[in-house]
Amino acid sequence: MNATVQGAFRAPSAIPPDAAAAYIAQTSFDRPTLVIDRARVVRQYDALSEGLGAARIHYAVKANPAPEIIRLLVERGSRFDAASRAEIELCLAQGAKGSEISFGNTVKRPADIAFAYSAGVDLFVADSEAELAKLAEHAPGARIYLRVIVENSKADWPLTRKFGCAPGSVPGLLDLARDLGLRPVGLSFHVGSQTRRAEFWTPVLDQVARLWHAAIADGHPLSVLNIGGGFPAFYGEPIDAPRDYAAQVMAAVHARFGKVGYIMAEPGRGLVAEAGHIAAEVLLVSRKSQSDLHRWVYLDIGRFSGLAETEGESIRYQITTAHDGGETGPCILAGPSCDSADILYEKRPIQLPLNLRDGDRVMIRNCGAYTSSYASVGFNGFPPLDVVVL
Ligand SMILES: *Cc1c(COP(=O)(O)O)cnc(C)c1O
Repeated sequence: MNATVQGAFRAPSAIPPDAAAAYIAQTSFDRPTLVIDRARVVRQYDALSEGLGAARIHYAVKANPAPEIIRLLVERGSRFDAASRAEIELCLAQGAKGSEISFGNTVKRPADIAFAYSAGVDLFVADSEAELAKLAEHAPGARIYLRVIVENSKADWPLTRKFGCAPGSVPGLLDLARDLGLRPVGLSFHVGSQTRRAEFWTPVLDQVARLWHAAIADGHPLSVLNIGGGFPAFYGEPIDAPRDYAAQVMAAVHARFGKVGYIMAEPGRGLVAEAGHIAAEVLLVSRKSQSDLHRWVYLDIGRFSGLAETEGESIRYQITTAHDGGETGPCILAGPSCDSADILYEKRPIQLPLNLRDGDRVMIRNCGAYTSSYASVGFNGFPPLDVVVL
């Protein structure tokens, strides 16, 4: 451990300095608060862009829809992947053009399609006949890409099955799109969120490349390849730096697809997760009996107030306390609400300092993605996650 203690918290060993951690160390909060460092978002964006080469970033807005982040990314030249009218309006309000926004939700409200079309959005996803019919009616002549199911996701948070059509449906859907007057221009997939290693992409790219070349041979001149998200964040297990990771993915893409008119990538987590930490507080430390091997640690933030990705204990956040460096023991970590599902880690307990007490502040690291956007409006009267953008 080469970290030094700064204020109540360990200063991160990463260079350049971690502004969000420094801010949290110097500030007192009256509720759980996500602190996001804009400069860190820019660094991630630039690193991913470099690695992606000619592929364009369409930031997946749902990962963190803070207007300041959207504006920053507009200024940086990012494009956007939106899932609803509200997300499209957010991007437009922060200066994005309709033509720079893709509507990437396979399940769209007809009125949202019409709104998007009137706002200049010209790139829509579909994975079914009924969605193509909606698009033909409300966005006539628009460019569409088909989302395909991919197998063998090795992601920590898989995103397939619910989305995408079976590989065998691709030819029929492309024909139907054309017959409906739409312009079927490409394919998309999602390798699964938090795909920790670039090599995990290769079997997925093999599947999509087969469909891609077959469609072209079938008379559909595809030009848009949407490789989705999946770019990982650091949660304790080693990952490659964003530029290297993206470059490895792109090398694998080029090897399989050859020349493609427009390649788009939709990082969410990989762009914003490491830019934010949550300041939280221990409300209670207890044992269920004197012989209980585990302590129960209850925080003022839980599943319903921002930490939804602990579902299935899939995403394991790193937690820093003022007592780090001392002896630790296994804890079951839970949120504050009166719902017994509000347990963060139990199957695999987490190690926390033995002298952790109620009233202690903790910092949950690398939480810039999928936290503020997942917080409920006020279950049990606990306020939604507060957000501070530096
Ligand atoms: C959520 C989502 C993303 C972002 O995924 P990450 O793993 O966070 O990068 C990208 N594309 C689509 C279609 C999504 O639904």
